[in-house]
Amino acid sequence: MHTIDIKSSINVNDASHKMYKLISDLYPLCRSITGNGLRETLHTIQKEISLYIHEIATGTEVFDWTIPKEWNIKDAFIKNLQGEKIVSFHQSNLHVVNYSVNINKKIGLQDLKAHLFTLPEQPNLIPYRTSYYKENWGFCLSHNQLLELKDEEYEVCIDSSLENGHLTYGEYYIRGEKADEVLISCHICHPSLCNDNLSGIALAVFLAKHLSQFAPSYSYRFLFIPGTVGSITWLALNEANVDKIKHGLVVTCVGDPGKSHYKKSRQGNAEIDKAVIHVLKSSGQDYEIMDFSPYGYDERQFCSPGFNLPVGCFMRSPHGTYPQYHTSADNLELVQPQYLADSLAKLLSVLQIIENNKKYLNQNPKCEPQLGKRGLYSAIGGQTDTKKSEMAMLWILNLSDGNHTLLDISEKSGLEFDLIKKTADTLLQFNLLKETT
Ligand code: ZN
Repeated sequence: MHTIDIKSSINVNDASHKMYKLISDLYPLCRSITGNGLRETLHTIQKEISLYIHEIATGTEVFDWTIPKEWNIKDAFIKNLQGEKIVSFHQSNLHVVNYSVNINKKIGLQDLKAHLFTLPEQPNLIPYRTSYYKENWGFCLSHNQLLELKDEEYEVCIDSSLENGHLTYGEYYIRGEKADEVLISCHICHPSLCNDNLSGIALAVFLAKHLSQFAPSYSYRFLFIPGTVGSITWLALNEANVDKIKHGLVVTCVGDPGKSHYKKSRQGNAEIDKAVIHVLKSSGQDYEIMDFSPYGYDERQFCSPGFNLPVGCFMRSPHGTYPQYHTSADNLELVQPQYLADSLAKLLSVLQIIENNKKYLNQNPKCEPQLGKRGLYSAIGGQTDTKKSEMAMLWILNLSDGNHTLLDISEKSGLEFDLIKKTADTLLQFNLLKETT
């Protein structure tokens, strides 16, 4: 009987500034679903945790998909007739459509426009566009800049390569007391976008770093993978072991000012769903619970019917719902340490529940045991908490029939999980409870 206390030994505020620093370091890198930007991202993460980096060759079949060619880029620009670079990859990697093929030619404005992408509704922002599975090239720029382009000839150059290579992903494993696993997954394939990808990465890294100092009850597996093809690849290569995953979360968009959102697993009533909902409900803040839908991040693959893993999606503002989403405004101003801190605190509370959510059997189930003669009325808490502690004892003793977890008891009683857990530990010491499965 020991409480795994992962919450009290961390300075969340301090961690949030380290998370923000990591986001700042990763921000300039041009990530994609393959390539050196991804590798550099993983090498930067390796300075914090000893991540294992996997390289899977182009052409490898992973279920219905095939590992694509590897994309790398050195430079890209559009020059006007005067030879001035009016769009430059080195100013923002969002200027290039991700996975653009190599191009170097002169082109008139009308033909060039077929390869330019803007956001007329948000005329100051650069959009984020990709063309992973169709060979194409293009540039993204602000709509205001497009309107200023003169009808003249331009020089376009994209110094990129699309060749046989590898898909790269990172994995970090913490061995717990048991082989049963908690999976934490985040996507790492977006270039200079902070909330959508970097915030999830930073949260996963610092959660991993913190948990590695414990001997947790569960084993933990952290995945840093390119979206969609990365989770498909991991599932294809690890199919034999996925039944070890008892709880899982995809972590994304956790650094913006929006309220917390949780998208339930496809199962809908998994223990992870109950734990996250409990934490959000207890937070005293506004939040929203969403049912599972087959759109979003890698929960789509983890929750495909052939796997149906208990994996939900933990976020603040969901994809597509905030104006900065997939634009140059998803930057270091949108994401702030205070929101990262709040997301980290909530995730720690979720894992604290998962780690300690035991089931017990009342060893004196015929009528209430006499608590006073055992000294139990004074055994717990200070004066002000006495009433709550008594109520916690009565609820735990009554519901410890082998059918209720401590989280169920917390929900039914309206008492905090931490109090329920602490009280159960005391009752266990007094031999009034026995752990059951
Ligand atoms: Zn995205």
